[in-house]
Amino acid sequence: MSLPEPLARLVEHLSRLPTVGPKTAQRLAFHVLRMPEPEVRALAEALVEAKARTRPCSVCFHLTDTDPCEICTNPSRDPSVLCVVEDSRDVVALERAREFKGRYHVLQGAISPLDGVGPEDLRIRELLDRLRTGEVKEVILATNPRVEGDATALYLARLIRPLGVRVTRIAHGLPVGGDLEYADEVTLAKALEGRREL
Ligand SMILES: [Zn+2]
Repeated sequence: MSLPEPLARLVEHLSRLPTVGPKTAQRLAFHVLRMPEPEVRALAEALVEAKARTRPCSVCFHLTDTDPCEICTNPSRDPSVLCVVEDSRDVVALERAREFKGRYHVLQGAISPLDGVGPEDLRIRELLDRLRTGEVKEVILATNPRVEGDATALYLARLIRPLGVRVTRIAHGLPVGGDLEYADEVTLAKALEGRREL
């Protein structure tokens, strides 16, 4: 395969993206070359802008372009219920389900010794700080229903219970081993509704 150097470089970068293999990378690269110049420029600018203008909210760590984020500053959201998730993508999924009216805390991962991720790598200290203000009455642990997510939920429950905060876990019924972000709205709404004490 002999591609012109700039094209080979584009293929190389695209193939580093998740779920994009070498073949898909090449197909995308050729597609980009067929796009009108302004569209290619807009795509490139969107990539750079998204990176430059989004950062984790200083309160909940959800990705945002305003700090604190829109959810943290929305006065109609219930500050007494906090939903703890692994990733910003989970916030997006839960918001799509339109069931949850409280606020979030994004851990930025799950405990996974095999991947070298320990509790100190997650936003757990910040979570406990938020709980110590006494405003939060219930924490819903909505980590993914996988080994790492379950272990993280148990770990957090042990830390949170002594603070006198109610701890619940979203109901099973979510596809086991699946991620929140791939669950449909109805399943997510039911999982929240059917949450149990942990
Ligand atoms: Zn926030």
